[in-house]
Amino acid sequence: MKNNKNLRTWLDKMALNHPLVIAGPCSAESEAQVLNIAHQLKKTDATVLRAGIWKPRTRPGNFEGVGEIGLKWLKKAKEETGLLTATEVANPNHVELALKYDVDVLWIGARTTVSPFIVQEIAEALKGTDKIVLVKNPVNPDLALWLGAVERLYTSDIKRLGVIHRGFSTYEKTNYRNNPEWQIPIDLQNQFPDLPLILDPSHIAGRRDIIFDLCQTALDLNFDGLMIETHHDPDNAWSDAKQQITPKVLEQLTIELKIRKEEGDAIEYKNKLENLRTQIDVIDHKLTEILGKRMQIADDIGVLKTKNNVAILQSKRWNEILGKMILQGEENNLSEEFILKIYKAIHQESINHQKK
Ligand code: PEP
Ligand code: MN
Repeated sequence: MKNNKNLRTWLDKMALNHPLVIAGPCSAESEAQVLNIAHQLKKTDATVLRAGIWKPRTRPGNFEGVGEIGLKWLKKAKEETGLLTATEVANPNHVELALKYDVDVLWIGARTTVSPFIVQEIAEALKGTDKIVLVKNPVNPDLALWLGAVERLYTSDIKRLGVIHRGFSTYEKTNYRNNPEWQIPIDLQNQFPDLPLILDPSHIAGRRDIIFDLCQTALDLNFDGLMIETHHDPDNAWSDAKQQITPKVLEQLTIELKIRKEEGDAIEYKNKLENLRTQIDVIDHKLTEILGKRMQIADDIGVLKTKNNVAILQSKRWNEILGKMILQGEENNLSEEFILKIYKAIHQESINHQKK
């Protein structure tokens, strides 16, 4: 695929003066629901109406999507509002039906991107289509697997491609439904700056209150668009009720987001700086989290040592750690002086924790 400027032609051709906004319900529920939301979205920055038609859930037994009939509702919504339409396809049969009903944007979901077998089948079913195809990241934090799916589609002669960042699942409970792991889309962007990158804050957040902040971070990282689950009555949505917002809230959100457009040297400088600073913020956030985790382990060691009547300070172990870290520091371009300073501080905090 290489980095290819043609990758972004479809987006540039839309000539939007703001990031691409894809909005609509997690799932199509009824004709009235789809049409109602579509008409309300017409008053926002949204250009594309999304709705899930096939919704196998993580655990069976819940609402599993309305199926083919939902594609008729999307078609009708397009005719009435002029919005483009988007839905998830997870197998060649879905592709065939989505093409039959002239869906404009087909996306591959996170649970599909993990499987090169199924991605290959979908790529073959889509061969040569001029539809826009967006690939969500796989559920596991693996950039190569994500890019591999994009490459399979590109090899199938699909040129209107883009990717959607929807976060990564972790066994550990975090503040997010799916951890953003911003470093992964940042790496992707560094490798393929011309591959349109869209944020799905809804599936990262799993709740409404942090959607705005996620969108702002993404725009500061120069993402090209947003896909936000939007419902006329979020609390009563048939799937993902907690994370959906109303079209009115979406409208306000897009007004309040600071969108940095590149124009002229000064602005370009400011954009670049903002982008780099956001990358630093992402790393600092991780550093603090990791230090917190280290200290929790120190607490456990403290308890264990006290129970066994062992002294807290053990200089042999400490010298071993320092030696290893100085070597690792060298490999990462960090001076011995810096490593000594930082590990002394960490060690002191560790001792304080163990003493507690
Ligand atoms: C969705 O967009 O509704 C969806 C199911 O997303 P994901 O594949 O990211 O879980
Ligand atoms: Mn959803």
